[in-house]
Amino acid sequence: MNASYVSPWMDEDLSIFRDAVARFVEAEMVPHDEQWRKQQCVGKDIWRKAGDMGLLCTDISADYGGVGGDFRHEAVLYEETSRRGISGFGQGVHSICAHYLENHGTEEQKRRFLPRLASGELIGAIGMSEPAAGSDLQGLRTRAVLDGDSYIVNGSKIFITNGFLAGLIALVVKTSPGEGAKGTSILMVETDNLKGFRVGRILDKMGMKSQDTAELFFEDVRVPAANLLGGAPGQGFYQLMGDLPYERALIAVAGVAAMEGGLAETIRYVKDRKAFGKAIVEFQNTKFKLAELATKTHIARLFVDDIIAKVVAGTLDTVTASMAKYWVTDTQQEVLDECVQLHGGYGYMNEYLVCRLFADSRVQRIYGGTNEIMKELISRAL
Ligand SMILES: Cc1cc2nc3c(=O)[nH]c(=O)nc-3n(C[C@H](O)[C@H](O)[C@H](O)COP(=O)(O)OP(=O)(O)OC[C@H]3O[C@@H](n4cnc5c(N)ncnc54)[C@H](O)[C@@H]3O)c2cc1C
Repeated sequence: MNASYVSPWMDEDLSIFRDAVARFVEAEMVPHDEQWRKQQCVGKDIWRKAGDMGLLCTDISADYGGVGGDFRHEAVLYEETSRRGISGFGQGVHSICAHYLENHGTEEQKRRFLPRLASGELIGAIGMSEPAAGSDLQGLRTRAVLDGDSYIVNGSKIFITNGFLAGLIALVVKTSPGEGAKGTSILMVETDNLKGFRVGRILDKMGMKSQDTAELFFEDVRVPAANLLGGAPGQGFYQLMGDLPYERALIAVAGVAAMEGGLAETIRYVKDRKAFGKAIVEFQNTKFKLAELATKTHIARLFVDDIIAKVVAGTLDTVTASMAKYWVTDTQQEVLDECVQLHGGYGYMNEYLVCRLFADSRVQRIYGGTNEIMKELISRAL
């Protein structure tokens, strides 16, 4: 964190947008976060409110009901929630779901779904992981068999962000099980009144307590063939690979914002808290630690700003996205761990922001492709 540094992608319009987003997050999210954490879910109302405010699908074309901005607008929303520890509102996954449609959907699919995602009527989710297939997606078992003008889906998904609230799931299925990657497709599944579809329990997690991460079950579920993303079967892997850098960029954006939020809170705390007759900040160890944390956070910020510029320019490649995802989230945990340490026992209490940020941060190294898988991807290109 460097107080005099302003991200080069920020401009006057984005500053006004950021102020509006920050006010919205402070008024509509922060006061409810404790309740959301207790009920393991943010509820549907906040999605409608965010849609009304023009905060959903900000980088989706206005032709399809989006805001018509770009990735900088997505980044602003993610930063303003992440720095305040608001981790239950799964706008990242929602945006990714919208991007699959915008990048790969048929014209009819875009017109049918995108305006409803932008308004918050539909909450989006990505259904990839299964009990026996996480990193290794070749092991997917959920099957979709064509029967007349619909697919019959059987299988289950696990760890699905927004899984409890989702009205639209980009569901990764096997359409030709014998054909490996070529037998994989994405079905856009509308969940409302869907016979044979069941949401399991909301999973009890180490952090991200207000996020409705859930298990999903499909038993002879009929999905119109018109909902096959892009219209042609067998395109799933290609569609996934194309959009994963976007997902990893969002994770890195959230990571650096959490570091900045945690560090700012820690600086405030150590100036206030006293021990041995002086403020904690007076100890040389505290000053040196803060200097280290500020330096790490600033490096992460520069890296993420470069990533944001690349997404806007359409030049973010898989390797750079993987580097950002792995390095920023590893550094996020180091930084937030020290923030907890500098808070002493209070840092271990959930009512303190750094405690929640630290617990929430752990999964950043796991989802969106584990950091080990990121290193695999990077090393292959060396
Ligand atoms: C809170 C949360 C939210 C999530 N949200 C979603 C979601 O919205 N949609 C979705 O589809 N999924 C979601 N996931 C799932 C997530 O993407 C997977 O958990 C992740 O990809 C890892 O898969 P796995 O859990 O099966 O672990 P495994 O693949 O079993 O991995 C276990 C360990 O082995 C390591 N490993 C595996 N393969 C290799 C290799 N080739 N080389 C080196 N090490 C390896 C991994 O890095 C890891 O350390 C979420 C998970 C969590 C916890």
